[in-house]
Amino acid sequence: MTALNGKVAIVTGASSGIGRATAKLFAQEGAKVVVVARRRPELDALVAEIGEEGGEAFAVAGDVRQEASAQAAVAAAIARFGGLDIAFNNAGATGEAAPISQMSLAAWQDTLDTNLTSGFLGAKHQIPAMIDRGGGSIIFTSTFVGYTAGMPGMAAYAASKAGLIGLTQVLAAEFGAKGIRANAILPGGTDTPASITNAPGATPDVLAFVEGLHALKRMAKPEEIARSVLHLASDASSFVTGTAFLVDGGVSICRT
Ligand code: NAP
Repeated sequence: MTALNGKVAIVTGASSGIGRATAKLFAQEGAKVVVVARRRPELDALVAEIGEEGGEAFAVAGDVRQEASAQAAVAAAIARFGGLDIAFNNAGATGEAAPISQMSLAAWQDTLDTNLTSGFLGAKHQIPAMIDRGGGSIIFTSTFVGYTAGMPGMAAYAASKAGLIGLTQVLAAEFGAKGIRANAILPGGTDTPASITNAPGATPDVLAFVEGLHALKRMAKPEEIARSVLHLASDASSFVTGTAFLVDGGVSICRT
């Protein structure tokens, strides 16, 4: 018996990195998965890969800044797989990094839309579908930045991701009595295309610096974050709600 047998999940940001690894793990654990991101070819490749491993997934290509994408993902979960139990609202981007006096309103707004408003839109449409099933688990990808660390130049990113923690707490309180659990996961540095260590021109010094910030002196693999998301999605965490769950290799407590 696998952890998510009979469950239906939505994973956003599934075309890459943490979302891709989590969609694969959810499918391996028995869930049927609706995968969401803008890049259709990457989603199609993921759906095929999950199918080859004996799982089931369906792609909804869309932009999480648009309410229609949130509606389409929930509609697909219901039409293709019969309902919705789990939502991993993970799509996000670092956005423009700049000192506040040089940050444009458009860049600020776009980062807030991508990282925070997307979570609101997802929850708005996912939670009623979960209530129809008698409960569910909703998870948002936040970060330690803006929670345990202030990083110069990251104002929009930090504010958007810290906002997700507030959203998580309210949803947990608002819908706990209906069997909905809401949690935020806060990864440390993770080896994905979004990491500054994989930015064009990043030197080995950048990697060594980022690794050194963590107590474990390394970055996470996306699969390691996925395993913690699975914990929050599954009944293994049945009494866990409203948390900001650090999965950060000790970056929040390390001073050496
Ligand atoms: P990634 O590999 O770049 O993945 C980001 C995903 O988000 C992609 O699938 C991308 O898909 C999707 N996405 C971005 N904007 C979108 C939009 N407007 N509409 C739909 N999908 C969108 O990066 P990652 O590291 O796995 O990031 C996943 C999450 O973890 C993000 O929220 C990020 O902030 C957070 N995080 C990452 C780290 C880290 O060190 N990597 C640490 C803490 C938190 P498309 O481009 O195909 O749309």
